[in-house]
Amino acid sequence: MSETYRNMTNSKKMDKNKRTPQKTINIAYKILESCELCPRMCKVNRLNEEKGFCGIGAKAVVSSAGPHYGEESVLVGKGGSGTIFFAGCNLGCIFCQNYDISQLRHGNEVEIDDLVNMMLQLQRRGCININFVTPTHVVPHIIESVHIARKKDLKIPTVYNCGGYESIESLRLLEGTIDIYMPDAKYLNSDSSKKYSFAQDYPEVMKSALIEMHRQVGDLEIEEGVATRGLLVRHLVMPDNVAGSIDIIDFLANKISKNTFVNVMEQYRPTFKARNFPEINRPITYQEFHTVYEYAKELGLRLAD
Ligand code: SF4
Repeated sequence: MSETYRNMTNSKKMDKNKRTPQKTINIAYKILESCELCPRMCKVNRLNEEKGFCGIGAKAVVSSAGPHYGEESVLVGKGGSGTIFFAGCNLGCIFCQNYDISQLRHGNEVEIDDLVNMMLQLQRRGCININFVTPTHVVPHIIESVHIARKKDLKIPTVYNCGGYESIESLRLLEGTIDIYMPDAKYLNSDSSKKYSFAQDYPEVMKSALIEMHRQVGDLEIEEGVATRGLLVRHLVMPDNVAGSIDIIDFLANKISKNTFVNVMEQYRPTFKARNFPEINRPITYQEFHTVYEYAKELGLRLAD
C-alpha cells in the first residue's frame, strides 16, 4: 500500500467535513492510475486501459440490469431488487456460477450517465433497492454515479453485493454511498481460499472488511419486511467443509454481532472448473448444510429464510 494512498484514505486523518463528495470521487479515480482498489494491488494504470486481475480498464462493464427476484426476501419486497451486474471480478473462484460475467467478462462498457439512468429506471420500475453485483473493481464509478443519481432523486437504498475481498481504504471511500453491505464470507481457511479463489489472504482480508462494513452501517435494519440499512452476510456451505463454515459462524457471532443477519446458502454446485477438484466436485449433503445452519441458529444469529 503506497504511503500517498494510505494518507489520502486514512479516515482518522481525514477531516470528513472537508471531504466533499467530489473530493472522494477524485481520490477514488486517482487510485485507478496505479490500481490498489482491492487487496490484489495490481498497480496497473487502468485509466490507460492497462488491466489487472479483474480484467477491467477505465470504464465499468455491465452485463445486465433489471429487477431480480432471487435475492433474499428482505431485498426483494414487492418490486424486486434492482440489480446491476458488473463484468469482471477481483476473485477468480473456480466454482463461480456466474463465470461468464465474472471471468469471461461478457457485457458492455458504460458511461457514468448510463449507470445513473439505469438506477433511475430501476427505481421507476418499482425496485426497492439498487443492488451492485460484483462491485469491488468499480468503486469510483459507483461513488460518482450514486452521487449524481441521488441529486436526480434516487431515494431507494444501495446494496454493495461483493465477494468480501475488499480493501479497507476502498470501503472508507464508500462510506455514505452504500446503505446495505452484502458481502460473501467465503472461507476462513487460507489453503482453500488460495486453491479455489487465488487469494491466500482472503480470511484475514474478509474479517477486516466485515468489521469495517459493520462499523459503517451496523446490523441489518428491516422495516415492514424490507431491508433499509446494515450488514447482510452470505455464506455458501461447500463440500468437505473446505470453507471452514463453523469458524465463519463463530466469527460473525463473536466478532461482528450476535444480531448479524446471515444467509447460510445450500446451493453449491460444481460448476465451471470445479470438476477438476474431486473434493468439491459434488453438491453438498443435507447434513453438511444442516450442521452449519443449526449452529448459526444455536448462536442466535438472524437467519435468512
Ligand atoms: S481492482 Fe482489479 S486492477 Fe485493481 S487491484 Fe483489484 S484486481 Fe487489480
